[in-house]
Amino acid sequence: MATLQAVIPRLESSPAIITPGAASVSFSLLDRHVKSVRSFLASLGLRPQSAIAIALPNSLEFAVVFLAVTYSGFVAAPLNPGLKQAEFEFYLQDLRCPVAFVSANESEAVVNAAGKIGKFVEGGHVKMFTIVASSSGDNDTAVKLCGIDGNAIIGNDSKAKMPEAHADDVALVLHTSGTTGRPKIVPLTHVNLTTSIRNITQTYGLEQADRSLLVMPLFHVHGLLCGFLAPLSVECAVIVPARFSASSFWHDFVEHGATWYTAVPTIHQILLKTPGPPVLPKIRFIRSCSSALAPSTMRLLEDRFHAPVVEAYAMTEACHQMTSNEIPPGVRKPGSVGKAQGSVSVKVLDQDGLEVGRGVEGEICVKGGNVTKGYRNNKAANDTSFTKTGYFRTGDQGKMDEDGFVFITGRIKELINRGGEKISPVELDSVLLEHGAVAEAVSFGVPDEMYGQEVQAAVVVKAGVAEDEGTEKQLIEFMMDRVARFKVPKKIYFTKEMPKTATGKIQRKHIADLFFPRPQ
Ligand code: ATP
Ligand code: MG
Repeated sequence: MATLQAVIPRLESSPAIITPGAASVSFSLLDRHVKSVRSFLASLGLRPQSAIAIALPNSLEFAVVFLAVTYSGFVAAPLNPGLKQAEFEFYLQDLRCPVAFVSANESEAVVNAAGKIGKFVEGGHVKMFTIVASSSGDNDTAVKLCGIDGNAIIGNDSKAKMPEAHADDVALVLHTSGTTGRPKIVPLTHVNLTTSIRNITQTYGLEQADRSLLVMPLFHVHGLLCGFLAPLSVECAVIVPARFSASSFWHDFVEHGATWYTAVPTIHQILLKTPGPPVLPKIRFIRSCSSALAPSTMRLLEDRFHAPVVEAYAMTEACHQMTSNEIPPGVRKPGSVGKAQGSVSVKVLDQDGLEVGRGVEGEICVKGGNVTKGYRNNKAANDTSFTKTGYFRTGDQGKMDEDGFVFITGRIKELINRGGEKISPVELDSVLLEHGAVAEAVSFGVPDEMYGQEVQAAVVVKAGVAEDEGTEKQLIEFMMDRVARFKVPKKIYFTKEMPKTATGKIQRKHIADLFFPRPQ
């Protein structure tokens, strides 16, 4: 299997990165910039496989630094540029980064963090290099990288020999989203990345004629693998705004002729609430992934875009995609996350690692060239994460139908255990969402003397709904008609906003703690 460098086109003159408001950059120019940064990295004398923090917003600069780091056999460690100093301290130290690339206007927290922990970092200090974003429309100077001393990096190529990456080298370290607890570090090799890229491009038939609009952050696998690297690998240009904004989405979408985008359900919901152009250009498909897509959101999205919505299932440990529905005329099953795609093998296993029958619930497990060999510095998690036959335990509960379509029923850690009766909060969320007044719903378990755990929920009411609609009493009655009595939430809280992770995921435990604080 190949390295990342072997699967990203280098010589073509077609556009690779389109930055709204700036000149687009071709694959060949992108590669020239990458070579400059590689030559700069080579001059630093770093050890092979050093982790290099990339705390940059989605941008051409991110692309250049990421490719330079990975092509040279170093390990890219993308970090959310909006983290606070203490968080940077944690990550820079956890990942043992000797170098961090930061953006000029968001550098303070990282620089302070590096200054504080520098002496603890193996192999020397944390060196800081700030990136000054592109200001000119001139292609040759589209990327400007400067050291913290202000010296230009690009265009100042050193004579040092550029190191090369090997297929089994680690290319990327990412943290899981931290939905169920503290984020875990996942190392992913070049083989993991290139296998995943091929699986994704094959699933959706991505090709040069496509154009991808990147809305997910590049510091998680969803944006990085599916929204960015997979399209680039087939010479499909990627439109890269610095961050998702509903108003610029519509503009970028129409102006640059996107043919598809991938996002979490939260982003689809925001788009549905934002007025867009009356007539939208024809697009091939919309992909939804990373948390459950309510059937109602799927229907509204299809009405709005006149394009099929395909839901997929992914995780950091699998270098993103495991299963997906197919674009029509392929098979789609709403409510399902689709079938294992490409070279991925998915099985539903019981606690002993034995396959359960079709239609029977168990733990969804995955195996393939895309799956990590294990977490970094986390023996306890590694000891329990793989079955004897080498399948990775996703921690997700689900079942598979006769056609191999997977249905996720919840996260094993989040199941509510009411007097021994296991209740899936995901099921309750989707029932609450069927109520016309409910915009968002999160169900959870809280400690209960009698049953061990009892069901509660929090909801956000849709804008414009009258005060006497969607009251707690009405919602409870609505649930009574639709689910068994023991599953009906005993209390429903109302909130204006649901706190989410950086990628828009709902942290069920965090929300439960907000409304039902546990004794410390
Ligand atoms: P942590 O592991 O730190 O708790 P996380 O599991 O949310 O966080 P990610 O790797 O970003 O971190 O997300 C993977 C998880 O997201 C999957 O295990 C699954 O629970 C959930 N997920 C992904 N796609 C879907 C989907 N289409 N429907 C429902 N859940 C999904
Ligand atoms: Mg996880």
